[in-house]
Amino acid sequence: MAESFEDTTFYFRKAAQVMGLPERIQRMLQNPDRVVKVELAIELDSGDLGVFTGYRVQHNGARGPFKGGLRYHPTMDEDHAKALASLMTWKTAVVDIPYGGAKGGIDCDPKQLSSGELERVTRRFTQKIHEVIGPTIDIPAPDVNTNAQVMAWIMNEYSKFHGFSPGVVTGKPLDLHGSEGREEATGLGVTFVIEEALRRQGAEISQRSFAVQGFGNVGSNVCRHLSKRGGKIVAVSDHTGGLRNPAGIDVPALLEHARRSGGVIKGFPGASPLDADSVLLEPVDVLVPAALGGVLTKENAREVRAKLIVEGANAPTTPEADEILHSRDVVVVPDILANAGGVTVSYFEWAQNIQHFRWELEDVNQKLRKYMTRAFTTIWDLAQAKRVSLRTAAFIVAIGRVGKATVLSGL
Ligand code: NAD
Repeated sequence: MAESFEDTTFYFRKAAQVMGLPERIQRMLQNPDRVVKVELAIELDSGDLGVFTGYRVQHNGARGPFKGGLRYHPTMDEDHAKALASLMTWKTAVVDIPYGGAKGGIDCDPKQLSSGELERVTRRFTQKIHEVIGPTIDIPAPDVNTNAQVMAWIMNEYSKFHGFSPGVVTGKPLDLHGSEGREEATGLGVTFVIEEALRRQGAEISQRSFAVQGFGNVGSNVCRHLSKRGGKIVAVSDHTGGLRNPAGIDVPALLEHARRSGGVIKGFPGASPLDADSVLLEPVDVLVPAALGGVLTKENAREVRAKLIVEGANAPTTPEADEILHSRDVVVVPDILANAGGVTVSYFEWAQNIQHFRWELEDVNQKLRKYMTRAFTTIWDLAQAKRVSLRTAAFIVAIGRVGKATVLSGL
């Protein structure tokens, strides 16, 4: 994971310069409101003591309660949490949902923990942060290596302190106050954005070829929705390696293979093996990085052959790579727009929770399309009008909205 606060700050500052934002306002909007760091000691199954560190960074709450995922990963640290929390502030503003930005997590490797250990560390984390989260304060959600089960444990632990509170987290299981459509929301949102971007080129998904890095929640759902619309998925990768089939990968068959193989694509018979990193450089029309941060760098950006990149992952493009791609006329739809479908349906889940009401899947997906399309159109039009990249335009829109809310609230 290579998301750094310095990189996200770079994009913020670039947009702030175009806007002519005074230095003191930049400082106020750039730095997090609150950084929480907690030590988490649990008993491991072996009887030994396991000690981990948990983080929750609340970046900006001008537009509403803080909102953002929890990531369980050995590389999780304060800088990552700050970077990802700031992205959430801009992302919630880009899609215009009533939240601020936050992020957090634990520096553990869930693959090395039993389910019982994972539950204990999650409950301990909730005990340590329950006073600074809540349905009107800060609402965590799943991110890398956390899922609906982890959210269910947090909801249960939080409710012991504060009473029944389904709105404290989103991304919960459907049987425990989750929302229809939440699981696939990020991938579907990415697909809506691809549809809109191609429409501006007078094209459709069915006329284009795609490479997708990552076959987890985001990547697999992007592949599924693109192939449903007739898109040709030529290359896919995950942490076990890559796959390539110039005639187009049979996505339903690959999904079934992954389901039977513990979630991985390795060993799929309908494609030839490909070096995992080469997926980024395939000769396709559209590239969707949907795995890790920092994968498009100054070392490989000149070799990318796609003319449209849609960032399913958070911060997959370093600032240097972004400049190179922009100079090569590669259109990059930035993460804070492209992958905002997840947090948008999280908002729908929270809205259902606080109303004690349930929406149909069709309703959720229709509203998701509306939010994503509206955000895309605003940003595309601004980018054209100001002759800036979509990323700079997205930051300008977001900073403008957060700035306005701050001024209206008063100091
Ligand atoms: P996930 O854990 O479900 O999947 C991650 C995928 O990346 C897996 O298929 C894994 O094998 C693959 N991967 C890991 N290392 C790789 C490598 N070296 N090369 C190729 N693939 C590799 O995670 P996810 O929820 O799909 O999230 C992916 C990205 O999207 C992250 O950056 C996350 O922050 C971002 N994101 C997720 C959501 C969401 O709702 N899940 C929302 C917004 C942004």
